[in-house]
Amino acid sequence: MTTVTELDAAATDAVAAAVAALAGRRIAILTGAGVSTDSGIPDYRGRGAPVRTPMTVEQFLSSDSARRRYWVGSHLGWKAFAAAEPNGGHQALAHLEARGLASGVVTQNVDGLHVRAGSRRVVELHGTMRRVFCTHCGQVFDRRDLAQRVEADNPWIQVPENVALGPDGDVLPESSDGFVVPACSVCGGMLKPDVVFFGEFIPAEKFREAEQLVQGSEALLIAGSSLVVNSGIRLLERARRRRLPVVIVNRGETRADSRATVKIDAGTSEVLRALADSLPSAS
Ligand SMILES: [Zn+2]
Repeated sequence: MTTVTELDAAATDAVAAAVAALAGRRIAILTGAGVSTDSGIPDYRGRGAPVRTPMTVEQFLSSDSARRRYWVGSHLGWKAFAAAEPNGGHQALAHLEARGLASGVVTQNVDGLHVRAGSRRVVELHGTMRRVFCTHCGQVFDRRDLAQRVEADNPWIQVPENVALGPDGDVLPESSDGFVVPACSVCGGMLKPDVVFFGEFIPAEKFREAEQLVQGSEALLIAGSSLVVNSGIRLLERARRRRLPVVIVNRGETRADSRATVKIDAGTSEVLRALADSLPSAS
């Protein structure tokens, strides 16, 4: 469901300026929800996004009923979330890495679409919905296997064909009464998706990995993030301190437009494709 739109004159000029800033440099990439909207995953900070309050980690960990609500909504949304396909933007970034022009991707997204598109070095700052782990014994489970177990434990549950996905790939359930919450099959402990919840910190070693990626690069390209999340700003400041060129691609304002070398206000799928087409190969 990739939307193909022509770039307007201002965006075309901005892409040319971005190519001039990035050419001949190894590029670190930072992405946010905006790169996945063309894959059908909504950006809850973007324009026209439905107002939703994400569940906090405290609610999830401390309340049985909150966990039941979470798992019902997450299960109902899982099929649509898992079926989302990488778009032209994800593919363009994977292509830049394959050509040796990009050092890798740091992403705030939990959809796994960069990996699916073929990016090799991917730092998932906020984790991934594709993994679930036991908070007691640490056992890791593949979300697809878990979804089958949830279905077997709750045979009455109807997963709708067309759902309005929330930002975390969930759906607001009408009721969660009687839903059997999945538990660890090893020790019976509490399971948690391997994602950073609202109110939870990014693991320190994950952030260090992201810093190292930026540290080993000569430019920073930020796509589809309004930079509301502080980790993004911190990475941007690391790059600025070394006077690296910073290019921001985002529809609408970001918190750091004034700090960018070039800001391109347009959709990420078409801009990233245009950038990948225009950047000269490393000599
Ligand atoms: Zn366990």
